[in-house]
Amino acid sequence: MNYYRVNKSTSSNPNGDNEVHKDTCYHYDRLSNYESLGQHSNCSSAVSLANRKRYKADGCKNCIPECNKG
Ligand SMILES: [Zn+2]
Repeated sequence: MNYYRVNKSTSSNPNGDNEVHKDTCYHYDRLSNYESLGQHSNCSSAVSLANRKRYKADGCKNCIPECNKG
């Protein structure tokens, strides 16, 4: 299980998506404007929760490439 956060800011993302990061990610501790998604056993669970919270969520290509749509 890992903790996940969704970035509320989309300004650094050219696709305009809200990136979801895992707690092992370099970016995780550097997010200044985020919502915690809690613990998940896989990234697709975390991304779908973010989508249910009305984010336009996509996985970070660094920490969860299997959930990154590009
Ligand atoms: Zn990441």
